[in-house]
Amino acid sequence: MTESKITQLQPLPDDWQRALAVVAHPDDLEYGCSAAVAAWTDAGREVTYLLATRGEAGIATLDPAVCGPLREREQRAGAAVVGVRTVEFLDHRDGVIEYGVALRRDIAAAIRRHRPDLLVTLNHRDTWGGVAWNTPDHVAVGRATLDAAADAGNRWVFPELAEQGLEPWNGVRRVAVAGSSNPTHAVDARPGLERAVRSLLEHRSYVEALTDQDPEAYVRDFLTETTTATGRRFGGIPAVAFEVFGR
Ligand SMILES: [Zn+2]
Repeated sequence: MTESKITQLQPLPDDWQRALAVVAHPDDLEYGCSAAVAAWTDAGREVTYLLATRGEAGIATLDPAVCGPLREREQRAGAAVVGVRTVEFLDHRDGVIEYGVALRRDIAAAIRRHRPDLLVTLNHRDTWGGVAWNTPDHVAVGRATLDAAADAGNRWVFPELAEQGLEPWNGVRRVAVAGSSNPTHAVDARPGLERAVRSLLEHRSYVEALTDQDPEAYVRDFLTETTTATGRRFGGIPAVAFEVFGR
């Protein structure tokens, strides 16, 4: 495919006020899209994070009982760097999250509580592109989030939620999937990039277990490379890509 035939990404519409970002693990949003989150909170938009797990199975050298609380602290610190004050955890089990009704119900409940216009999640597709296989946790949470956008608005799906005082919310207008192998839209990464680096660097235990490189150099290289690559399809502007599903 020649350069001129590569589809250009469209700017993500900014006609919204509240976002709920739903992912499987601590660090998913920091690898995936925190430069965009920083720009959104700068503009006065409210962003809440919901994590299916505490990432307790993420570090081979740490017992889950130690790792979970540590990664929760790192996640809260990483969120604060990009202006996110509310971080919630669903306590599904890291590594073996099951796609299904229980997960859809938990996410639908959070949507009804927070009433977002925009849902954000991480790649629900089988691969990251090519033959880079995705993990089952990301696929499960991404798919359940796409499904829960509709579940949250239907009174007769999960009627027990209404009995708990969580009235239907059918106000989700888009679901934006970060890290997708099939992106359609993008957000300028430049204003938030430095904070994205610092937010990913807050996951220091994870990053240090992952690489022998200097953590800051590793994080900066990763985020610079991914945003620059996206920029080739966004007028040369370093950007965070999303696959956007309208409703
Ligand atoms: Zn993950």
